[in-house]
Amino acid sequence: MWVPRLLRTIKQHTQFTRQISARIVNGTNIEVQPEDGKPEKLIFPSVWLRDNCLCDECFHGSSKSRKLDWDNFDTRIKPVDLVADGKEKQVVVRWSDHHESRFTLEWLKDRSFQKEKQEEYLREFYRPETQHWSGKQFQDIARHFNYEEVMSQDSTLMQWLQSLAVHGVALLRNAPLDEGVVRRLAERVGFIRRTTYGEEFVVQAKPGAQNFAYLSLPLPLHTDLPYYEYKPSVNILHCVVQTDSPGGSNMLVDGFHIADILRRDYPEDFERLSRVIVDWNDIGSEDGRKFHNIWRAPVICLDAEGRYTRVNHSVPQRDSHFNVPLAEVLPWYESYARFVRLAIADSHAFKTQPGDVLTFNNIRLLHGRTGYDDSEISPRYIVGAYLDWDIIYSRLRVLKNKIQRKPQ
Ligand SMILES: [Zn+2]
Repeated sequence: MWVPRLLRTIKQHTQFTRQISARIVNGTNIEVQPEDGKPEKLIFPSVWLRDNCLCDECFHGSSKSRKLDWDNFDTRIKPVDLVADGKEKQVVVRWSDHHESRFTLEWLKDRSFQKEKQEEYLREFYRPETQHWSGKQFQDIARHFNYEEVMSQDSTLMQWLQSLAVHGVALLRNAPLDEGVVRRLAERVGFIRRTTYGEEFVVQAKPGAQNFAYLSLPLPLHTDLPYYEYKPSVNILHCVVQTDSPGGSNMLVDGFHIADILRRDYPEDFERLSRVIVDWNDIGSEDGRKFHNIWRAPVICLDAEGRYTRVNHSVPQRDSHFNVPLAEVLPWYESYARFVRLAIADSHAFKTQPGDVLTFNNIRLLHGRTGYDDSEISPRYIVGAYLDWDIIYSRLRVLKNKIQRKPQ
C-alpha cells in the first residue's frame, strides 16, 4: 500500500508544479513555453499583452471590456521583468510604465498567434466555414430537424444553426400548423428582423383573382431584398397549407457554388460580376407609408480576402438606373446571363408539406417557386419571417460556450 501512495503523491506533485517558462525576445516579444521539455512555444507581442492587461484598473470583468486609458497608451511599452509561475500556471509581467499584468496559461493559449490556432478559432468559433453544394448534392447536405426538439433542446438548436451556417439550408419538420410558428422559432434564436413589409408575412395567392392571375405564376430564382444594405439574412418559411396541384415546389440554388463555377471556368465573367456595381431598388407603399429603397452592390460581393460575403439577384428588383460606364453595359449583361443560366441549370426543386419549416441563407442561396393552380380546393398558405446573421451567430457562440465549453 505504501509504495503506490508515494508514487501517486510524486505524480500529483509533478503535475502541480509543472514548469512553464517565459522569456523576453528582442525586447518586444514574450515567448512562453507552456511545458518544459516540449517544443511548443507561444510568442506574444508586448504591445498586445499590455493592451489586454486583465487587472481591475485595465479591464472591466463583468462586462468583459477593456477600460485601459488609451488616451495615454504607450505603443512602445517594454517588459522589464518576467515571472513564469508554474504553480498558478500564469505569467507575470512587469512593464516599463511600472504596471504589472498577470496572464494565465489557458488565457494565453486561447489567444495564440500561431496561424493554425487562429484559423481554427475563426473556422470553429467566429463563423463556421461554409461548404458549397450543387443541386445534385442537395439530398446529401440538407439536414432535417424536429421542430419541437429545436424548441426544447439547446443541442438540437445548435445543430440546426450550425447546418444553416455551413450549408445555408436546413429543414424543420412536424411544426404545428398555427401562424405563430415563425415568430416562436425566431424568438428561440433571438428576434425577427423587421423589413418594409413588416415582421411576419404571408405568401398566398389572392383567392378569386381574375383570369390568368388565378394561376399563381412561377417565381423565378432570386434573393430577397437585395435593395437593402443590411439585407435580411435568413428566410424562415413555414408551410401551413400546401397545394395539391402539381406545382408550388420550392427551388433552391447555392449562389456560392455558382460563383465557384464562374471563378473556375469563366474568370472574366466572375471578375465582372464581382466588380460591376448594380443598382437594386424597390419602390412602393406599405401601410400608407411610401418607400424608395436603393442599394448598389455587385451580383457577387467579396471581402478583402476574396471570400463571398453576399450574392444579389432579382429580376424585378434590379433598377433601370445602371450607373456604370457605357462600355461596361453589354459585357456585364453577357456575364449576368451566364450566371442566371448556370443557376437555373443547377436548381433543385422540392415541395414542402404542412408542418415543414424551410430555413435558408438569403445572403447566399437563390430561391424560387414553380407555378401552381391556386383555387379554393387547392390553396397554398406559407408564413414567413427573417432572422439576421448577427443574431444567429451570436446565439450559436453562446450555445457552443455552454455545450462545448468553447473559449470566451
Ligand atoms: Zn492592468
